[in-house]
Amino acid sequence: DTRLITPEKRGEDVDVALRPQTLDDFTGQKAARANLKVFIEAAKGRGEALDHVLFVGPPGLGKTTLAQIMAKELGVNFRATSGPVIAKAGDLAALLTNLEERDVLFIDEIHRLNPAVEEILYPAMEDFQLDLIIGEGPAARSVKIDLAKFTLVAATTRLGLLTTPLRDRFGIPVRLEFYTVEELETIVRRGARIMGLSMSDDGAREVAKRARGTPRIAGRLLRRVRDFAHVAKAEEVTREIADEALTRLDVDAIGLDMLDRRYLTMIARNFGGGPVGIETISAALSEPRDAIEDIIEPFLIQQGFIQRTPRGRMLTARAWTHLGLDAPKDLAA
Ligand code: ADP
Repeated sequence: DTRLITPEKRGEDVDVALRPQTLDDFTGQKAARANLKVFIEAAKGRGEALDHVLFVGPPGLGKTTLAQIMAKELGVNFRATSGPVIAKAGDLAALLTNLEERDVLFIDEIHRLNPAVEEILYPAMEDFQLDLIIGEGPAARSVKIDLAKFTLVAATTRLGLLTTPLRDRFGIPVRLEFYTVEELETIVRRGARIMGLSMSDDGAREVAKRARGTPRIAGRLLRRVRDFAHVAKAEEVTREIADEALTRLDVDAIGLDMLDRRYLTMIARNFGGGPVGIETISAALSEPRDAIEDIIEPFLIQQGFIQRTPRGRMLTARAWTHLGLDAPKDLAA
C-alpha cells in the first residue's frame, strides 16, 4: 500500500523528534487535554493510579502520543502493545505482572483483542488481579496473582466494535476530533522548525489545508514537501512550492487523495450518488470494509461530502460540486 495519505502508521512516522512531549506542547484537542490535565493532577495529588482511559478516534490524531505524554506527566513507566499482538492470555499476563505501581500500559487497537485475552483483562482492570488456570483436566487449579495498581490507556478507531463490559471498565473515555486548519498550521510550523526547514506562513497553511485534519498526514506531507523543495533548490517553502509538491502527489486542494476521489466518483457514476451499501462500495473499490469505514469515510463525513442513511451512503451536493459534476435535480434543489 503506497497510498500517501493513509493515516495508518508507517516506519517513517516513528519520528521521535516531532512528537510533542508534554500536554502544553500538544496542539489541539483542547477539551480532551483540559480534562486529562485535571485527572492527572488529581491522581498525582492522591498518589494513586489514574483511572483507565479509552481514546476513541480515527488513526493519526494523537492517541499514542497522548498516552506517552500521560505517562511522562504522571512520572511513571510507559509500556505499549496492541490488540492483535497479544495472542494468548499468557502474553497479557506477562505484560501485566511486569508493571510497577501506577505505570501506564498502552494497548492500541483494543477492539482487536482476542476474547480469551479480554476475559483476563476484566479482573485486572477492576481488582488488579490476575485469575489464571494452571494445568489441565483434574489437576487444573486456579491461582490469583495480585498486580500493581496500573493505568490502562487503550485506543480504538471504532468504539462500536468494543464489547459493552470492556467499554464500561474505562473511567475516562476521551474522543479525539479532526484538527482544524489553524491547529494543523501550528503543527506544521513546529515540525518545519524542528526539521530546520524554512517555510513561509502561507506555505505552512497550504500543507495544513491539505492534511485531512490529521497530524500524522501533516507530518508526512511536510516531509515530502521538504524533499521537493530540496531538489528544487528552493530556499524557502512558499505556497507555490507546497502546492506544486502536493499536486504532484495527487493530494487535491482540500486534502482528498486518489482513493477518496475514487470513492466519491464511484458512488456518483455507478450509483447515481447513492444510497449504496458499504459492502457494495467495498466490492466496487476492492478495498476492505474496515479500511473504508476507519480511514476514508470519517473525514468525508466530517467534511460533509457523504451522509450515512439507513439505506447506505449518499453523496451530498458538496461532493458533486467538488467532483465538478452535476448533482441530480432532487438533491440540488
Ligand atoms: P494515533 O495513535 O492516534 O494513530 P499518533 O499518536 O501515533 O496517532 O500520532 C501520529 C503522528 O502525528 C505522530 O508522529 C505524532 O507525533 C503526530 N501528532 C499527533 N498529534 C499531534 C499534535 N497534537 N501535535 C503535533 N504532532 C502530533
